[in-house]
Amino acid sequence: MWWSATGIGPAAVAYVFMPAGMAAAALAVTNVVRDGRLEAAARRFWQQLLAACVMLIGGYGLLAVAGFSSSPAYPDMPLVATVLVSTGVLTGIYAVVRVPLGVTTRYELGRQWLDRAIAFLGCATVLYHFGLAPMLHTSGPRDVPLTVMVLMAFLLASASITKVSYINGGPVDRTAVRLLAAMGMTGAVVAMLGVERSTDWQAAAQALVLPFVPVLAAVAAHRQRVSTGAPPRRPNTWLPYLAVAAVQIPITDVLLSHASTPARAMASAAVTVTVLVMVRQYLVMRENARLLRHREQSERQLRYEATHDPLTGLANRALFRQWLDTERDAPATVLLVDLDDFKTVNDSLGHDIGDELLIAFAETLVVATGDDGRVVRLGGDEFAVLITGPGELGDPVAQRILHACEKAISTHRLLVRASIGIATAPAGTTASALLRDADVALYTAKQRGKGNWVRYTTDIERPVLADARLGAELRRALDDREFHLVYQPIVALADRRLVGVEALVRWQHPHRGLIPPLEFIPAAERTGLIVPLGRFVLRETCRQAAAWLAEFGPDALEKVEPNVSVRQLHDPDFIDDVRAALADSGLPAQRLVLELTESGVLRGPRMSRVLHEVHALGVRLALDDFGTGESSLSLLQTFPAAIVKLDKSFVDGIEVGEPGTARTDARQAVARAVLQLADAFGLDAVAEGIENEEQVLELQRLGYTVGQGYHLGRPVAASQITALLARECETAVV
Ligand code: C2E
Ligand code: MG
Ligand code: MG
Repeated sequence: MWWSATGIGPAAVAYVFMPAGMAAAALAVTNVVRDGRLEAAARRFWQQLLAACVMLIGGYGLLAVAGFSSSPAYPDMPLVATVLVSTGVLTGIYAVVRVPLGVTTRYELGRQWLDRAIAFLGCATVLYHFGLAPMLHTSGPRDVPLTVMVLMAFLLASASITKVSYINGGPVDRTAVRLLAAMGMTGAVVAMLGVERSTDWQAAAQALVLPFVPVLAAVAAHRQRVSTGAPPRRPNTWLPYLAVAAVQIPITDVLLSHASTPARAMASAAVTVTVLVMVRQYLVMRENARLLRHREQSERQLRYEATHDPLTGLANRALFRQWLDTERDAPATVLLVDLDDFKTVNDSLGHDIGDELLIAFAETLVVATGDDGRVVRLGGDEFAVLITGPGELGDPVAQRILHACEKAISTHRLLVRASIGIATAPAGTTASALLRDADVALYTAKQRGKGNWVRYTTDIERPVLADARLGAELRRALDDREFHLVYQPIVALADRRLVGVEALVRWQHPHRGLIPPLEFIPAAERTGLIVPLGRFVLRETCRQAAAWLAEFGPDALEKVEPNVSVRQLHDPDFIDDVRAALADSGLPAQRLVLELTESGVLRGPRMSRVLHEVHALGVRLALDDFGTGESSLSLLQTFPAAIVKLDKSFVDGIEVGEPGTARTDARQAVARAVLQLADAFGLDAVAEGIENEEQVLELQRLGYTVGQGYHLGRPVAASQITALLARECETAVV
């Protein structure tokens, strides 16, 4: 009784460790059982273990009580305690034996049984040779029950080690089961310590070594909690080899001590061959493992590429849809983020700088979003942020993104603006419905002037729907030929001679009557229908002009001017359309003038190429609404224009009727400057929107020679222009 001799305390105290430890283990196991993520089979396993713990607490609790009452002598284990402990141990063994292995195929099962047989025999041989055999073959008196117990413990230890080594993807954590198997080993050690030794030894083993059992149980329970839900690990493949290697040790031992020389030689050869085969197996195994790792790596790479955008490294649309579909049980918020006028950057600065801008913007988005959501690139300049959780989270994220856009980004220090549409959907909404709402919100944000964010509500949907409906109507109207052209005279201010006409489109709606272009051209531009509509205007203008030329001769009408939207210039077929309109009508190219509204969008290498191609055809270009755009001056340098049209806003109030007022002076200054500019660049200038004679006189005084406006002629049907031309011809003849 060394602990009482050393003054540590009475022997009975040592018996408390076990029930107390067991109680702590039971608590840990209870936590595992309560874990909602556990699979049914795993829960059953841990419940059985809990039952075992409870029985062991009972059994060892009784032993501790007995210890206190018999102290300082050793207690005899009460019968009830023996029954409880044995049942507890058996229950634990049963639980481990029944642990599901996670094996699925028959082949795998067969292979596993083979491996287990090898491992078991290897393990048992070593244990037999070094542990049991010396004990069984001693000559002295033998404690039979103890020997049987030790034998059982060893068999149990080998069997449980063998079994649990093969757990691979089962629901119960592998390490946890191994720790539990180690409990069995601990029991075996305790039994071994007791063999042929004094009662002191037995007591020490029971009281000091046995409490490792609950410690192991508690650690195992912790492992299970940590690993629940984690991906499965690869099963062991090295154990059978280890078993074969282990068997060589007792064989060598036997050879060295007992065998005859020829037998030794034979057996040495057998051991050597076995070892060599094992080395070979080991090399093959290593190569297999390397190949497997390689395959896993390329699979991971493929998976990554299929779900990520190569330019920015963000998740792509496919992964985004996957997230939306799999996380439908939580409310989700989507922010659709679209760069404003990215096309202009791409067209004017080139694709490389455009790409750099996208990468920099992606980083800005990730930083601004932080941990609140996941950033996705949906394609082009369209990004999304997915936020799971309460919908209000979206607004601050949107604000942070817009705030981040106030600083220049990328190595080229570019300023970008973004529009954001936000939509939140309750759990269970389909991904497409959520995306559609966010799309409507984004569209509205763009409509409201870009650079801002809009949250989806049912109210904002109405104008968008109206637009969509208008788009469908336009399509139908084009098919039903509801569009026609009117022509407004462009005249020489001095003698009011007709020098040209501007072609203006009109929509004769069957129910709504005549619709002015300002009501449908913007919708046609947004929906892309301006391309076929513009093609119609171009062809019809050319056809009509050619007809007038044929009827009244080359001196009758100098030019016709249809309007062209920038959106049309982006159409790859635009140049072909112009060429075909001229060829089919027979109109000489120099009689055609295309009116383009001056805007920043006309810049960039691509635009410039298209405009120069038009110029090369011999077709002239007019800058419409001149003076209202952002930077008229610099545009003149690169734009191959032939005509500038002074915007109506500078003509309004220019007349001397309001002499000396500041506004009049300013307008006159602009009108004069535009004329000087036009002269400097060798362009013709036309004043638009002239509504009275005073304006004509004032413009003439400033140097204008050509004008257009209600005062000089309203937009009228082709037949009225024909009549006008006829009159002019007669006057000329007379
Ligand atoms: P714009 O090209 O600047 O055309 C001149 C507009 O001013 C025309 O309006 C014309 O009727 C109006 N106008 C002309 N003189 C006067 C005047 O003295 N006083 C006033 N108050 N207005 C005058 P409209 O026909 O309603 O066209 C409006 C705009 O719609 C055009 O402006 C043009 O940008 C666009 N547009 C018209 N037709 C087409 C087309 O076929 N294709 C494209 N892409 N745009 C077109
Ligand atoms: Mg025009
Ligand atoms: Mg105009």
